[in-house]
Amino acid sequence: MMLPDGFRESFASDFGQRAYEALERALTEVPSPVSVRLNLSKLPPHSSGQIPWCPEGVLLDERPLFGADPLWHAGAYYVQEPASMVVARYLDHVDFAPSVALDLCAAPGGKTTLLRSHLPETCLLVTNEPDRKRAKVLEENVLRWGADETIVTSAYPEALRAAGLEADLILVDAPCSGEGMFRKEPDAITGWSLELVDHCARTQREILAEAWEMLTEGGLLIYSTCTYNRAENEAQLSFLRDNYGAEVIPLPELLDYGVQESEEEPGVYRFFPHTTGSEGLTCFGVRKPGPPVAPQMPGRKIAGRSGGVPDELSSLPVEYLLCNPDGSVWRLLSPIGQSVAALLEGSEGVRVLSSGLHLGDIKGRDFIPGAPWVLSSRVSSLLPYPRRAMTAEEAFALIGRQTLTGSGERGYRVATYADVPIALVKELGSRANNLYPKSLSLHDTRLVLSDMPHIFDLT
Ligand code: SAM
Repeated sequence: MMLPDGFRESFASDFGQRAYEALERALTEVPSPVSVRLNLSKLPPHSSGQIPWCPEGVLLDERPLFGADPLWHAGAYYVQEPASMVVARYLDHVDFAPSVALDLCAAPGGKTTLLRSHLPETCLLVTNEPDRKRAKVLEENVLRWGADETIVTSAYPEALRAAGLEADLILVDAPCSGEGMFRKEPDAITGWSLELVDHCARTQREILAEAWEMLTEGGLLIYSTCTYNRAENEAQLSFLRDNYGAEVIPLPELLDYGVQESEEEPGVYRFFPHTTGSEGLTCFGVRKPGPPVAPQMPGRKIAGRSGGVPDELSSLPVEYLLCNPDGSVWRLLSPIGQSVAALLEGSEGVRVLSSGLHLGDIKGRDFIPGAPWVLSSRVSSLLPYPRRAMTAEEAFALIGRQTLTGSGERGYRVATYADVPIALVKELGSRANNLYPKSLSLHDTRLVLSDMPHIFDLT
């Protein structure tokens, strides 16, 4: 592997020549690990191959064709590199109940889905990505995982701050020079330069300054990059400490797993491929001084509900039900989520891609249930329709949007595979309409049933 000109000198000057040689050997001789993180609201815990810093992380022996797996489509797991799962450790150290969390640089959604699983159910998650195309991918991944109590936005951090958004937990998984991705993404090698490191360090500082303004007193900020150099890591921690009095959160247990702590800035942790077996990542967590204060945002009323609540929604908490003014689209979002959505929807430079869980639509006199409700991590079991267990063949046909053989009955059914809800089907007697959303369906039409992996042996 040809590492970029200038990288060797820069890395060796920060971490020593021996560390550089060990890194180069690992990148050249050891393949990238393959790992997934389970959605424990959909799958049971897995007993082996766990990643020590994240109990629901599982290492796999080989890379299957994830895209051909109905369970991947249903958000039962997320394919994620092991080091990225360290965010779970910081969340274990939150000693207050956060009420609004913000993921500022979130696409494609790996750490957002992790946050969603580890945050309290009542905590609103605003997940944001300024790049519009990437924001769309983020929205899809949130939908698969379960879009409960989550708002997806596309904005630059200054627009969110100008809108008045506040959060008591903020993740900045910053755009960076990508030194930790050299093995997994060869483009990271060709794109790297010392100028890029400088440019990224400046952008990161701007993002952090905005994030700090949005963070409430006593709140927690988690910062990570997939790069090693000090300008993008230690220097960002000293910036926060020297300018704002940020208090570092130590995670000494990480040292048991080969993670290295910075001598210059204790509390900055590095995952090196040659010490942890993961790809490269650097992280730190800081607290804003003061006792925890819940975010206080200007309350805005969302457009009211007209008419009655459809019978199909009667098992859901009424104060969480939200519909558009003509009563045709129904969603589920907490009162605080509703006021944050209203705040963001009217703000310059902020696009709200989705807010809360789309439950369904009224068409004429009928309630048409929405796919997001099926994929919900929390309220899927409250869908008022019987379940239909699919075989592997039927589940594969489902994600390919093929027509299905009917069960002889009529009406909506929640199609499940290995007990995981995937989509709605409408039984019409001898056939069943497949209502799996086009936007989520199999993108690669070359995939066939024999490509479908059986990773967890659940059926
Ligand atoms: N957190 C993501 C995950 O775990 O899947 C990965 C995030 S990636 C390392 C960094 C993201 O920051 C990119 O999607 C990039 O488009 C976005 N980004 C770029 N410039 C930004 C800015 N000024 N503010 C916020 N995000 C930015």
